[in-house]
Amino acid sequence: MAEPTLRNTPADSLTPDEAARELAALAAEIAHHDRLYHQHDAPEISDAAYDALRRRNEEIEARFPELRRTDSPSMTVGASPAAGFRKVAHRMPMLSLGNAFAREEAAEFIERVQRFLNLKEPPCCVAEPKVDGLSCSLRYEDGLLVLAATRGDGAEGEDVTENVRTIADVPKRLKDSPPGVIEVRGEVYMDRTEFLDLNRRQQERGERPFANPRNAAAGSLRQLDPRITAGRPLRFFGYAWGELSAQLAPTQWEARQRLKEFGFALNEPAERCDTVEAILAYYERIQVLRPSLSFDIDGVVYKVDRLDWQERLGFVSRAPRWAIAHKFPAERAQTRLREITIQVGRTGALTPVAELEPVTVGGVVVSRATLHNEDEIQRKDIRVGDQVVIQRAGDVIPQVVAVVPELRPEGSVPYVFPHICPVCGSDAVRPEGEVVRRCTGGLICSAQAVERLRHFVSRDAFDIEGLGEKIIREFWNEGRVRGPSDIFRLQETNGRDFPRLEEREGWGARSVEKLFASIEARRRIGLDRFVFALGIPQIGQATARLLARHYLSLDRLMDGMEGARTIGSEAMGELLSIGGIGQSMADDLIAFFHEEHNRKVIADLREAGVEVLDYDPPRVQASPIAGKTVVFTGTLESVTRSEAKARAEALGAKVAGSVSAKTDYLVVGADAGSKAQKARDLGVTTLTEQEWLDLVSAT
Ligand code: AMP
Repeated sequence: MAEPTLRNTPADSLTPDEAARELAALAAEIAHHDRLYHQHDAPEISDAAYDALRRRNEEIEARFPELRRTDSPSMTVGASPAAGFRKVAHRMPMLSLGNAFAREEAAEFIERVQRFLNLKEPPCCVAEPKVDGLSCSLRYEDGLLVLAATRGDGAEGEDVTENVRTIADVPKRLKDSPPGVIEVRGEVYMDRTEFLDLNRRQQERGERPFANPRNAAAGSLRQLDPRITAGRPLRFFGYAWGELSAQLAPTQWEARQRLKEFGFALNEPAERCDTVEAILAYYERIQVLRPSLSFDIDGVVYKVDRLDWQERLGFVSRAPRWAIAHKFPAERAQTRLREITIQVGRTGALTPVAELEPVTVGGVVVSRATLHNEDEIQRKDIRVGDQVVIQRAGDVIPQVVAVVPELRPEGSVPYVFPHICPVCGSDAVRPEGEVVRRCTGGLICSAQAVERLRHFVSRDAFDIEGLGEKIIREFWNEGRVRGPSDIFRLQETNGRDFPRLEEREGWGARSVEKLFASIEARRRIGLDRFVFALGIPQIGQATARLLARHYLSLDRLMDGMEGARTIGSEAMGELLSIGGIGQSMADDLIAFFHEEHNRKVIADLREAGVEVLDYDPPRVQASPIAGKTVVFTGTLESVTRSEAKARAEALGAKVAGSVSAKTDYLVVGADAGSKAQKARDLGVTTLTEQEWLDLVSAT
């Protein structure tokens, strides 16, 4: 790297003219290095040299404060955009898939579809290999590739267009006559032999090999420099689509053929199956073929063939109802259990972890596995020193399935689960009827506090880059970050209340700046992410989204929770009317928002400048029922209740289980009961099934 040479005239001896000239030069030079570092991930100078430039700038400014420039680097700390890819919102969400493991679950999927659509025969399905890579959406306009995005969280991914352009398998211009707009979705993956070659080259260059083809594909696609991606053997299979300006075909099978005509490689062998027996036979066949395929797979996928049926089936939360992944069984291995350690989670749960002699399972080295809980250890009588069987399935954390009793060393003793928290020493108690033992240390337990903070900054919550476990723990120990709002005050407290981060071992001005920038970028956050970040017991991402979608703003949500403390209140009725929220979740929510400490965390965050944005509902087609609350009662004739509900939700309505003053429409099928009477009493509009169908088909 070429290092810049600083002028060595001491700042004190500069004339004002010289100082002004040098400040201008420094501003330009530092901005140049910032750009290289942040936008191109390709710095030209070392951290130390960069820090020296900034220090020189500060010295001169300290001597000539009146010459400080408006674009001075000392004013711009934390303002640069976080390095990385541009975010892109998917016009149609990129979904995940439901999973089946047992044969029965695959059969149940077919039955579920049959019931939902009220069919006489099982639906014909396309069965195809489930490729173990990473999904990508490729947008073509007038046949030309204009955008490529990763899946991200399904709603928003990263723009990786330049990198995808380097993949030979991806057509830059489609053949045949594609629709004007088409988003082709599929999998970026790496061929097995090409993966092994790549790893050999990595090792020859002294670089770390990748754990498996999927990691290699992901690491290669997400390179900030497309030239690096170009040197990696990436490939692409097309198997699905997002936005389309014209339908491709009436069935999944024919749509696949169209993708092939446009120039895409398909994940083969695929098959059309008419019966449960046929899909299971396909599953067996692929399992046998698996080792001889040139790419990694982790199961097969069944998709309802008729696209009009897929449309009617729609999706539930993040997965389509019309498809399922049938995963292959987990891979197993045997090794020695060296030790059992206890992890303390953010809710204080004590989780036992098996520390193992490292062993390879399905190509990945495993040295830790979960032991779930106290009862599991006892039930399986797992002891330190035992030979244990561990298994690993896909991305799931490896687990200990059993011990091999014949190989038990002499003198081993049953494991005694601790009754005090290994981190803070508080009692760990296990309420009657629960499986989990919890630390009672609450706010004084550093493990809980650190885990809560980790959850707070995690990818699906505030998504703050650069605050890993180690740093959070260090910040917590120093007292620099004790609660979430301290994160947003890091810049303010740096050098004032705590030693300057820039002077920390291994840190430099740029890493600090980068951290501040990524915090800054998250000062405004969507309500759903915010609610998830709070770490309320039982409230995962999907429920947080439901709450956001219902209450729309943080203040309304908090008012609603306060009101719901009164049993039988309208606010309680409203909370329970949200599909997916039951009494136990409601209790946790109400308790959480009532707890003084939690209210303070929220108030502190707001005071530290965090702005929680009102929920912005995904654009649904303008529909007469968008935003309305609908209740169904009685037996519907033309569609099943589930289908009617799914359709209403897809059109932006909320479907509630009981009639209240907030209900907009009650749809009354045959043999309706008391709900119809209640609706009449409350003056709610009631619709017959036909009136309802007319209303929704008008969209
Ligand atoms: P999961 O990541 O387990 O939720 O599984 C969903 C993912 O499987 C999708 O996002 C795709 O990336 C991937 N996938 C692999 N092969 C297929 C396939 N043939 N059809 C649909 N999805 C697939």
